[in-house]
Amino acid sequence: MKFDKTVKKMKYFGIRYYCNICDSWVNHMKPDGGKEEFFEQAKVIGGGYRDHVICPVCGNKDRTRFMDLCIQKYTPIYEQKLAILHFAPESGIRDKIKKNPRCKYISGDILKGRADRIVDIENICFKNASFDWIICNYVLQYVDDEQAIREMKRVLKPNGKMILSVPIGIGLDQTMIFPSGKHIGQSVYKRFYGRDVKERLEKLSGMKVKRISYKNSGRNKYGLLEGDTIFLLED
Ligand SMILES: [Zn+2]
Repeated sequence: MKFDKTVKKMKYFGIRYYCNICDSWVNHMKPDGGKEEFFEQAKVIGGGYRDHVICPVCGNKDRTRFMDLCIQKYTPIYEQKLAILHFAPESGIRDKIKKNPRCKYISGDILKGRADRIVDIENICFKNASFDWIICNYVLQYVDDEQAIREMKRVLKPNGKMILSVPIGIGLDQTMIFPSGKHIGQSVYKRFYGRDVKERLEKLSGMKVKRISYKNSGRNKYGLLEGDTIFLLED
């Protein structure tokens, strides 16, 4: 595996992009995404086809690189002794956290085989006040977000924090609710977040919500997505 990565690092070596997940300089990132009418109408950040997405060495995407940079800059997750719950884990983030031997790390997913444990975010199988941090990316649009946030707060320790992201349609004034689910691409959405996303997260969590967005002001050496957004929630 390590040998394979070394070969890929040499094969794709270049000075255009740097992948902060696998520590590789590469000459290109692979494109990703397809045409989706709803994403175009709702002006979804990162919806549809986009360039410089997938690292050719490790396979992680632009959103995972941004999340990793935010974890490094805004959280102690990679360094301190913490209990962490990570929903629908991105392999790049999971592997980096696991390198911190002091961390008590559990990944969870509703589907078998995708994480350490099967965990239903609407009915989390852990005791109250178990975790210092929860990481939850691109999950809340598929579930009852009010119930999921209530459950995540229940298993957070006092002063525990969350870092999360959801798809956002900047063309939508308000979050659209689909009571019986809406098929978009390969997935069934319970809602699609609009420009009110921060207010909605504040209202559902009762926590302080900090919004962090990527704005390209030059070279974009990490190959990030313009407008990519994450939220930090704390008491
Ligand atoms: Zn990489």
